[in-house]
Amino acid sequence: MNILVINAGSSSLKYQLLNPETGDLLAKGLCERIGIDGKFTYKPQVEGKKVLDAIDVAMPTHSEAIQAVLDALVDAENGVIGSMKEIDAVGHRVVHGGEAFNKSVLITDEVMKAIEDCIPLAPLHNPANLTGIRACQKVMPGVPMVAVFDTAFHQTMPAKAYMYALPYEYYENDKVRRYGFHGTSHKYVAGRAAAMLGKKPEELKLISCHLGNGSSVTAVDGGKSVDTSMGFTPLAGLPMGTRAGDLDAGILQYVMNKYGLSIDEMLNVLNKKSGVEGLSGVSSDFRDLENAAAEGNEKASLSREKFAYEVKKYVGAYAAAMGGVDAIIFTAGVGENDKAIRAMVCKGLEYMGVKLDDEANSVRGKETVISTADSKVKVLLIPTNEELMIAMDTASIVKG
Ligand code: AMP
Repeated sequence: MNILVINAGSSSLKYQLLNPETGDLLAKGLCERIGIDGKFTYKPQVEGKKVLDAIDVAMPTHSEAIQAVLDALVDAENGVIGSMKEIDAVGHRVVHGGEAFNKSVLITDEVMKAIEDCIPLAPLHNPANLTGIRACQKVMPGVPMVAVFDTAFHQTMPAKAYMYALPYEYYENDKVRRYGFHGTSHKYVAGRAAAMLGKKPEELKLISCHLGNGSSVTAVDGGKSVDTSMGFTPLAGLPMGTRAGDLDAGILQYVMNKYGLSIDEMLNVLNKKSGVEGLSGVSSDFRDLENAAAEGNEKASLSREKFAYEVKKYVGAYAAAMGGVDAIIFTAGVGENDKAIRAMVCKGLEYMGVKLDDEANSVRGKETVISTADSKVKVLLIPTNEELMIAMDTASIVKG
């Protein structure tokens, strides 16, 4: 079985062709500058097939982009499948499913309407995701399509976790609540953690730390998300590459009045000019921060410390929320690669039963238990694979 996974942005489209049963990746790539001049990248994962790197392909709309993907996948010389018939279904990443979707679904007209209804909650992302779905429906008629939502995994949170202490009518009338994001990643690594520990998901209390350019921590109790650090939008929770994370809302009024900023300008600062980049003045990339810190840059050191400190606070909070924790998971760019950040997060958690194994913690990017054999709480490094999770969900829905 082959599943085409699509992640459509407003002018770009990422794709992967995967076998969800074996986990094999057949090809991946990227369409960029859709609606402008069109750049097409194709990376077949089969030996002897040629890579296309940002070549010019006219893509006035997403439909031409999808067509270029299909043409490359079935190309007589460099394709990885014989014909389009070998694509059993398409899995689409959709950012926001609001309260309408607590799991992945087969796309119908009704589902399209419900995704449209969520546009006010994700005004930049959901319209692009819908454009990608419509383009696929046009170019691949009759092929089943499934929507996989970033928010769906978190729909199991109890009201005490998802409600804000605001006037209740903002929830009732305007759907203001915590939704959480990175759900596909948290779900995938939680499933892998259960497999690594030889336990059923229902038996485990997990804290999943997705630490990348965007970062979030999720408490997963019995296989279900019970709390997560991102909120109504992905601006909440941890400080990130350029996003501020949680802060005192009173700061907005103070800074906006002082510098005459509009709310849009203020949000631009919070989303694009803050986080570890804003704090360090160096970079949003943790590798650059590590290098700068090694050369004595104190703000770079501080921003790494601040980041790890906030992750640690969520670990403590979620252990308290769940009444314990069996394993802490590190995933995504920073979580998978930055051993010093992992060590900083775990340091001081010995009282909870967390003992990191320094040697095991030196690995990067591969599924590993990085705690000592006698550590009561296991610490796991698990590379995330959102595309595989989307393909697995899509396959299980299509198979019924
Ligand atoms: P992601 O959003 O999951 O793709 O993560 C991207 C971020 O991971 C980058 O901005 C870096 O900060 C971080 N990263 C990637 N590779 C490394 C590495 N080898 N060491 C430390 N950080 C890394």
